[in-house]
Amino acid sequence: MNKSAVKKIAVLTSGGDAPGMNAALRAVVRTANHYDIECFGVREGYNGLINDDFTKMGPRSVKNIIGAGGTILRSARSLEFKTKEGRQKAYDNCVKHGIDGLVCIGGDGTFTGAKIFNEEFGIKVIGVPGTIDNDIFGTDNTIGYDTALNTAMDAIDKIRDTATSHNRVFFVEVMGRDAGFIALNSGLATGAVDILIPEKKDSIEDLFATFERAEKAGKSSSIVVVAEGEQLGSIYDLAKATKAGFPDYDIRVAILGHIQRGGSPSCADRVLASRLGFGAVVGLMKGKTNVMAGLQSNNLVFTPFEEAIKKHNEINQELMLLSEILAI
Ligand code: ATP
Repeated sequence: MNKSAVKKIAVLTSGGDAPGMNAALRAVVRTANHYDIECFGVREGYNGLINDDFTKMGPRSVKNIIGAGGTILRSARSLEFKTKEGRQKAYDNCVKHGIDGLVCIGGDGTFTGAKIFNEEFGIKVIGVPGTIDNDIFGTDNTIGYDTALNTAMDAIDKIRDTATSHNRVFFVEVMGRDAGFIALNSGLATGAVDILIPEKKDSIEDLFATFERAEKAGKSSSIVVVAEGEQLGSIYDLAKATKAGFPDYDIRVAILGHIQRGGSPSCADRVLASRLGFGAVVGLMKGKTNVMAGLQSNNLVFTPFEEAIKKHNEINQELMLLSEILAI
């Protein structure tokens, strides 16, 4: 590669942790090393920039982490970085260490912070989408999403065993904040009788009609997967309303919660993280800034932060229809 636009970069992980962040970090550090760029790891997200928590990293600093969940740099939600004074401290520390490029691994909040930092101080910033929610525009998948999906699928499979043994109806809540991607795909993969997501307008009447169709078709147990951002009501409200409508049903609620964030990243997440970590460094070397590295149709692409934050990936309507047809 010809002359690089950056000589010393820093990398951090920020916001909610996601499986595969370590694999992305490893790719950043080793790509930088390959191209003779000095690389610093910053601990605890933007807090580390503010508190001068920088560590020089080389290829051996990231040994044996490709399969590790969480993030060895740790993550944080930094309130101070949301203030001008906090960002000034962060910039002063970047100047102190001679940092001319920053790789920020995280979600849309992390990219919002990176964008503001770039606009205020001109330091080159590039984002890597690390969040289980898959709610970032500009990449087909975010790092951690595939692992979270598989974790949710395994858990729902286990819940199905007990649902079948006892003729029960289970409402299972999965993560995803305002996005229904985890719910739709884990629901389809586990044969959920219904999938309730914020992107679709649901009603109690439709849910009841689904239960009635399932009963007519001879189903004796059912799983309903509910996205945490579902608008119809909380999972407890839905269970209560169903009990009122179908007093004979033996209804249970399960909230999968934080198990969905943990664990060793899947093969797909490790490969994605490696490609995007590499892409981020190469992007910085080419002088790119204020963009996120993503993978679309298996190609590395760079999307302006502005779009990555504001736009949304659409729910695949074909998957929605498929889940309805195949469930009963
Ligand atoms: P996840 O999607 O997993 O929650 P995230 O990156 O969206 O990840 P946030 O907590 O929203 O998580 O953002 C991470 C950090 O980015 C914040 O703690 C804060 O330090 C920084 N940040 C977010 N919004 C802003 C902002 N408007 N100005 C400056 N910094 C911000």
